[in-house]
Amino acid sequence: MIYKPSHSPPPSPSNSNPLRERGVVKNAGLALLHWLYPKRCLGCRDTLPYDSNQDVCPDCFQSLRPLETQSSPHYAYGRFEGILRNLIMEFKYQQKSRLSHTLAPLLYQIWKRISQLRESEVFVPVPLHPARLRERGYNQSLLLAQNLRELIRQDSRLIPVAESALLRTRNSPPQAHLPRAERIRNMESLFEVRNPAAILDKNVLLIDDVCTTGTTLQSCAQVLLRAKAKKVLSLTVALA
Ligand SMILES: [Zn+2]
Repeated sequence: MIYKPSHSPPPSPSNSNPLRERGVVKNAGLALLHWLYPKRCLGCRDTLPYDSNQDVCPDCFQSLRPLETQSSPHYAYGRFEGILRNLIMEFKYQQKSRLSHTLAPLLYQIWKRISQLRESEVFVPVPLHPARLRERGYNQSLLLAQNLRELIRQDSRLIPVAESALLRTRNSPPQAHLPRAERIRNMESLFEVRNPAAILDKNVLLIDDVCTTGTTLQSCAQVLLRAKAKKVLSLTVALA
């Protein structure tokens, strides 16, 4: 005789739904994968829930603090260190393009705080060389600019992202040994304005992930100004 509890409900139609069963199998598969390879916070390395779509735990995310002092023309969220550095390194070099959703809100915080930034009329992401773009599959600066645009759209403002305004014509040569002025001159020839109409007489905001020496942003700004942009500011997630 088969034991059957008297209170067991009859199987509902949704329980026998093949789509739902597939979902259960998928979740079980994810749970197993998580048990074998737990997903860890990029800050404290604690295990994250297997169905989490975040890469940092809430505590680590809350611990991020923006820079207290900002100065024109370059603005940044924070220092390139600790959790912020881990996030950016994974974003750029570990194919985690989804991290643009974690990092763009940090740019948005600075955008809301600095009135000069809110005068921007067009976003220009710092371009990658086409060969680098093919290798990586995405330009991290473009993803940041697009996500920032979406966050600002909530405030009923639509700022276009001029994706092809700038072109990077060469990969940058190693030039740490050169004097700064010469580095900037060399860098300038790396970029050209492809679509002058997109920036003509506009307040441009250059967007990038990290500002290291500032020469990349400065050379982009110079070619944009030469092509008659009205003003050029820049915003990055981190400052090295
Ligand atoms: Zn954490």
